[in-house]
Formats: sequence, C-alpha cells, structure tokens
Amino acid sequence: DARDLALAQELARQAALAIDNARLYREAQHAVRLREEFLSIASHELKTPISALQLQVQILLSTLDRSPSGPSPERLRRSLDTVDRQVRRQTQLINDLLDVSRISAGRLQLRPEPMELSSLAREVAERFEPELARAGSSLQLQLSSEVAGQWDRLRLDQVVTNLLSNAVKYGRGNPIQLVTSVEDSHVRLSVKDGGIGIAEEDLKRLFNRFERAVSERNYGGFGLGLWIARQIIEAMGGRIQVESQLGVGSTFTVELPRPPA
Ligand code: ADP
Repeated sequence: DARDLALAQELARQAALAIDNARLYREAQHAVRLREEFLSIASHELKTPISALQLQVQILLSTLDRSPSGPSPERLRRSLDTVDRQVRRQTQLINDLLDVSRISAGRLQLRPEPMELSSLAREVAERFEPELARAGSSLQLQLSSEVAGQWDRLRLDQVVTNLLSNAVKYGRGNPIQLVTSVEDSHVRLSVKDGGIGIAEEDLKRLFNRFERAVSERNYGGFGLGLWIARQIIEAMGGRIQVESQLGVGSTFTVELPRPPA
C-alpha cells in the first residue's frame, strides 16, 4: 500500500546517498594519497639534480687540487654537459611548479600574437636534436604548409615541448612523428611515439594533476606536464586528447579552433 511504497522510496533514497558518500570518500582518499605521493616525488626530483651538480663540482675541484693545470678539456666538457643538463632539468621542474600555482590561482594569462604553427613545430623539433640523438631516436616531421593563427607562442611552444619530451622519455628510442594539419573548423598538431604506451584504465587520469601511469613508475617525473598542457590548450579554446595502446605507443593530439578567415 501507500505506506510501504513511501518506505521503499525512502530506503532507496538512503541507499543512493550511502553509495554517493562512499564514492566521495574514495575520491577524497585518492586525492590525499596523490598529494602525499607528489610531495615525496617532488622533494626527491628536486634533490637529484642538486646532488648531480655537487658531484661534478667536487670532481673538478679535486682535479684542480691534484694538478695545477686543472682538468683536461674532455673532462671539463663532460662535467659542464652534466651541469647544463641538470640545471635545465631543475629549471623545468621549478617552472612546472610555478605554473601549477599560477594556473590554480586562475592567473594564467595568454598573450596571443599572429604566428604560424608549422614553423613553431619545426623550431621545437630542432631544439630536440641533441636529446633525440642521446635517446637513439629520430623525429619525422609531416607539416602542413601554412597554419596561421593568433596564439600565445610561448605557451604553445611549452605544450609541444612537453609532448615531445614525453615522446622521447617514454618512446623506447623508436622514431617519433610530429604532424600538423588544417581541418574545417580547427588546426591540429599531433605527436606519435612507438613507446611503452598507456594502459586503458590510466588514459582518463593522465591529464589530471599529479597523475602518472602505473606503467611508468620507474621513469621519474612530476605528473604535472600534461595537466599544465591541458589547462593551456583549454584556455585557448582547444582540446588535447590521447590514443594509446600499452606496449605499442601513444599519440597525443592538440586541436585549436581555426581563426575566422
Ligand atoms: P611526467 O612525465 O613528468 O610524469 P606528465 O604530466 O607529462 O608528467 O605525464 C603524466 C604521465 O602520463 C606520465 O607520468 C606517464 O605515465 C604518462 N605519459 C605521458 N606521455 C606519455 C607517452 N608518450 N607514452 C607513455 N606514457 C606517457
């Protein structure tokens, strides 16, 4: 009768609430765990370049102590190469942290200017030559001739740099492809690697803050780059997506609205 029905409805409502609460609780727990993991990774990642720098300085000082003519040119070059690489890495990590706090506070400011996407892609690609050589990898460019628009050049550079550095890092030395194209309503840039790939269940989470795929726990990294990339691209009115297969490779694609003709 009516009383039973009302009771049943009330029970169903309570059950739905309980399920909802359990889900919220699990999500909160996950967020807390990510934050704790992040803090320990961050301190480790920030300390590693410093230790490497200190080691090189000690090596050079001790060669100076032993022989007054100082280290050989090759020795000096090797040390300076390491110092250069580690300082870059440290700067990158710190810039990522600054970006996260800037974006989280809603202070990401875009400065659009007339530019051409394929030439930006070529420029970033050239910058990657030493890194590609070190990884034993290569980069194939497939660039559409004219992809003009108004975008924040530095921020777009940052996104392409992040995608390429991930492709090198997780690419297992296999060739990488960088493609630009013009579609009806948007322009597209994609970076394809033949690397470790990403498991299905990790795909959705990659663009979240602090998230890193299970398959790459031994590569090191903050898990911030893709989150920052997504924030930048979405602020530009575009979107960023990934297709991947574990053990086969990944393709990250950026789409930006095409400017009115
Ligand atoms: P980071 O590489 O510093 O950890 P990112 O935000 O750039 O942070 O990437 C987040 C995670 O996405 C990485 O930890 C890695 O698990 C995964 N990932 C990103 N790019 C690739 C790729 N090209 N191939 C496989 N996994 C990737």
